[in-house]
Amino acid sequence: MRRYSAFAIAREALRHHTGWERAWKSAAPKSRYDVVIVGAGGHGLATAYWLGRNHGITNVAVIEKGWLGGGNTGRNTTIIRSNYLQDPSAALYEKSRSLYETMSQDLNYNVMFSPRGVLMLAQTEHEKRGYLRTAHANALQGITTRFIGPAEVKKICPIMNIDGPRYPVLGGLWQERAGTARHDAVAWGYARACSDMGMDIVEQCEVTGVTRDGARVTGLSTTRGDIACDKLGIVVAGHSGRLAEMAGFRLPVESVPLQALVSEPIKPCMDIVVMANTVHGYMSQSDKGEMVIGGGTDGYNAYTQRGSFQHIEETVRALVETFPMISRLKMLRQWGGIVDMTGDRSPILSRTPVENCFINCGWGTGGFKATPGSGWAFAELMATGASPLTAAFGMERFREGRFIDESVAAGVAH
Ligand SMILES: Cc1cc2nc3c(=O)[nH]c(=O)nc-3n(C[C@H](O)[C@H](O)[C@H](O)COP(=O)(O)OP(=O)(O)OC[C@H]3O[C@@H](n4cnc5c(N)ncnc54)[C@H](O)[C@@H]3O)c2cc1C
Repeated sequence: MRRYSAFAIAREALRHHTGWERAWKSAAPKSRYDVVIVGAGGHGLATAYWLGRNHGITNVAVIEKGWLGGGNTGRNTTIIRSNYLQDPSAALYEKSRSLYETMSQDLNYNVMFSPRGVLMLAQTEHEKRGYLRTAHANALQGITTRFIGPAEVKKICPIMNIDGPRYPVLGGLWQERAGTARHDAVAWGYARACSDMGMDIVEQCEVTGVTRDGARVTGLSTTRGDIACDKLGIVVAGHSGRLAEMAGFRLPVESVPLQALVSEPIKPCMDIVVMANTVHGYMSQSDKGEMVIGGGTDGYNAYTQRGSFQHIEETVRALVETFPMISRLKMLRQWGGIVDMTGDRSPILSRTPVENCFINCGWGTGGFKATPGSGWAFAELMATGASPLTAAFGMERFREGRFIDESVAAGVAH
């Protein structure tokens, strides 16, 4: 693989950009691999990447029914933070956040990580107490966050109205090194690195069945033929229940639409990410100037990748009190993704009842931020059978009542 560099850009500019290679090879599926990952979203690709990079396993295929990154990875609002309450979550999300800091250099691909700061608003006394508790927990976990008062909120985000009649801003949980990254670039960067290690990324190939020899997985049926494998990783977000059913086990997840929208582009007016979880809305400004807006999930299960119309209205209405300026903006585009929600709002990174079949799902509304760390930990689990970062996230916790309750950090927030 040719490295990207300032020199390469100058060279290609002089020869009309005719010398760039394809970022990743388009592969046809082989009949057998050591490891097959289903789902070429960020988490599937990151898993493949760390299998090669940390464990030397490169006879790997990543199978994708659509186009790479076309699931939730290419549909999310790119918020990255690690201010979770419980220790196992904080460890996993902080590992991810720290991997984002060096991802562009590690992958030789500009993922535009922008640690611009994320502020979670406290707009009720109850919410304020919750965030104070999280700030204390984060201090014990070694994660840098702090609770700031309304005056400081106004200083770092002047367009905000902090004296709203229903929900005045009482302060906020501020994580300065949190932020955003370009979601497509994360998927593309991992795909390029995986392809460079000799892995096959097979797009337009839907998995239609999982084959077993007794309790052990042996391979897959796909729309492009059968594939045998020693180990199988299922990393399909909103479609996890369907894949689990093919493999012969049940998952405690629900698939629901989550949507987002962007406004027309405007001049720079907001250089942080703000989440208002009491009213179910959050906002940031993209590099193009669009205001990126999102809210909570729809209230029903579906696979439509669209979401309901009244939800957009509810989200915008909720934000108008705190950001009056958005009432004068035209909204340009809206889209949806299908997220996989668990009861405790924490992910599942786990072995399954089927031997050599592993599952990575349940990231709900907030898995983009976890992409690199999830891949790191899941690769370790698949390669060695255990990972300190995944130990608490086994699917048996739902049977045993060992929940990792993140309803404050992830019930609405992304
Ligand atoms: C509107 C929206 C906003 C969000 N905002 C944020 C945010 O700000 N911050 C954050 O951290 N998270 C956010 N999220 C959540 C985040 O996007 C997801 O948790 C994360 O992207 C999941 O990544 P993934 O790789 O597991 O899944 P995906 O990117 O969905 O990848 C799974 C892939 O599996 C493929 N697949 C499914 N079934 C099959 C099959 N049978 N055969 C082959 N392939 C199959 C799909 O086509 C898909 O490409 C948001 C999500 C949405 C929808």
